[in-house]
Amino acid sequence: MAPNNWYEKVLSADVIDDIKRNSIISQKCKPYYDSFVRFAAKQRVNYENDLEAEWQEYSEKYLNKRLYNTDINLWKKLSKKIMERDKYTCLYCGQIGGKLEIDHVLPISRGGTNDFDNLVTACQHCNRQKHDKTAEEYADWKDKHE
Ligand SMILES: [Zn+2]
Repeated sequence: MAPNNWYEKVLSADVIDDIKRNSIISQKCKPYYDSFVRFAAKQRVNYENDLEAEWQEYSEKYLNKRLYNTDINLWKKLSKKIMERDKYTCLYCGQIGGKLEIDHVLPISRGGTNDFDNLVTACQHCNRQKHDKTAEEYADWKDKHE
C-alpha cells in the first residue's frame, strides 16, 4: 500500500535507509516490512528517529498482540493446546464441541497477551458477545442482556 501522507512519504525513505543499515532489525522486520516502515514513519512525525525504539514499540504493539494475523501456524498450534486443556468446552456457557474459538480473557486491546493463561476456549457465540470486554464486564453484560 502506498503511503498517503507527505510525512509518510518523506519519513519512510529515512526509515528504509535506517533499516538497511541495521541488519538485526532488517532481519526481524522482514515479514512485516511495509507495515513497520509505515509505523516508524508515523513515529518520526514527532522527531523521534531511533529505529530500535521504533521496532521495540512496533513489536510490543502489534506482534505479540495479533498472533492470528502475524503467525497463523503458531496460533493454530496454540489454539489446539488450549482446546485440549479445556476439553473442548466453552468457558463461558459450558458448550462442548461445536464452533469453538480461542478467547483472550483480558482482551489484547486492554493489554492482554497471548500467554497460555490468558487464553481460553469459547464458543463462537460467547466469543462474539464478549468481544473486547473483560471477563467481569462480560458477566455484567450477560446479566443485563439475557
Ligand atoms: Zn459459549
